[in-house]
Amino acid sequence: MNCFVCSKKKEDFEVWHNKVVIAATYDSEFQNNEYVQNMSDKSIICHDCILTIKNQVDENIK
Ligand SMILES: [Zn+2]
Repeated sequence: MNCFVCSKKKEDFEVWHNKVVIAATYDSEFQNNEYVQNMSDKSIICHDCILTIKNQVDENIK
């Protein structure tokens, strides 16, 4: 499977599935991020990209 954001090939334990992203990041700012918004049910995001998005969201809040 490939990361939805960076398109790198990732193993199952390296990624977050859509439902996990939504559940684990109970944060409207994060869920409003365009990458997160564009995820489909089958999309996955790797941990690196989760961190990148999180940092972007934190920057935007400041
Ligand atoms: Zn990625």
